Amino acid sequence: ADHSFNYPARPEDVDWRALYPRISLGQEVQFADIGCGYGGFLVTLGEMFPEKFSIGMEIRVKVSDYVIDRISALRLRHEGAFQNIACLRTNAMKYLPNYFRKGQLEKMFFLYPDPHFKRCKHKWRIINQALLSEYAYVLRSGGLVYTMTDVEDLHKWIVTHMTEHPLYERLGDDEAAQDPITPKLYQSSEEGAKVVRNKGEHFLAIFRRI
Ligand code: SAM
Repeated sequence: ADHSFNYPARPEDVDWRALYPRISLGQEVQFADIGCGYGGFLVTLGEMFPEKFSIGMEIRVKVSDYVIDRISALRLRHEGAFQNIACLRTNAMKYLPNYFRKGQLEKMFFLYPDPHFKRCKHKWRIINQALLSEYAYVLRSGGLVYTMTDVEDLHKWIVTHMTEHPLYERLGDDEAAQDPITPKLYQSSEEGAKVVRNKGEHFLAIFRRI
């Protein structure tokens, strides 16, 4: 239940030092992996973008604890590395503006989000009309939203809602393919790896915040 969430009143109140012990004044999180699960993709981001700070946001306490331990172990094993990734247990559908100021984020990732198949559950989908404006608020203009799913119906839902929203435009296939992150979206995360193992389909869409 929500009362068990400890969340900051405003982004200025977040103790980023507790998450990134070596972060300097003036440095801030630019990438957010929403519903990061077991953190495989977050670790990839840490390696690919040593100069960027990435945060994984995960609602399940056991899963976020696992990712926190995973990052601590990586930091111990590789002195000086993985200081740029961290995981927060939070409800990303409710508290993003408590953590990020307007225009702070360069990239947001929604990888293999829960499909919530039934129509009456669609409001729980992490990409929905109401939340898109909130995501646009924390994204800087020109920032990118990456979405990947193995559920075609959810992919169509995402594309419809994002395209209808005035603040997003979808990247063309060529531009999406040229992004160095694109190949990592297929199997860096645990859920993506499972889809690859099961030879399932992947549906990718990337959007730019206008
Ligand atoms: N992105 C990961 C991957 O590709 O392996 C995990 C995919 S998993 C199907 C979806 C994840 O989103 C779950 O770990 C779930 O707990 C998390 N999640 C669902 N709703 C959330 C919310 N409101 N805030 C944060 N995380 C959420």
